Amino acid sequence: MDCIFCKLANGEIPTNLVYEDENVAAFKDMNPATPHHILVVPKKHYSSLEDISLEEMGIMAEIHKAIRKVAEKEGFAKDGYRIINNCGNHGGQEVMHIHYHVLGGKKLTKLIAD
Ligand code: AMP
Ligand code: ZN
Repeated sequence: MDCIFCKLANGEIPTNLVYEDENVAAFKDMNPATPHHILVVPKKHYSSLEDISLEEMGIMAEIHKAIRKVAEKEGFAKDGYRIINNCGNHGGQEVMHIHYHVLGGKKLTKLIAD
């Protein structure tokens, strides 16, 4: 499958991974919106949250565990951060491999929807 996030997460395209375990990988967003902007993804391809079966939902806990490790490792866990998942067309998703944006390093304004 020609998916850029599959290739980054599984080492087919060399990149400096911020974090990696058996099922999850994290790398820097190429167009950072905040001083720390990291994308956390499952190594297995799911196009979006809508693509994950109820039986496979354990991956969501793994992603969230990885997010905490990334925040700790990058030094912004204490100050806090924002997690964003854009899901599908109306959610503004552009890369169709589920990913969580982890945004840290500055105080963000309150935002629910634009
Ligand atoms: P979304 O709009 O939620 O699908 O977010 C896609 C994000 O992926 C954007 O913030 C892009 O800057 C980022 N992105 C796209 N391609 C790459 C890449 N090759 N390496 C790192 N980040 C990328
Ligand atoms: Zn993929």
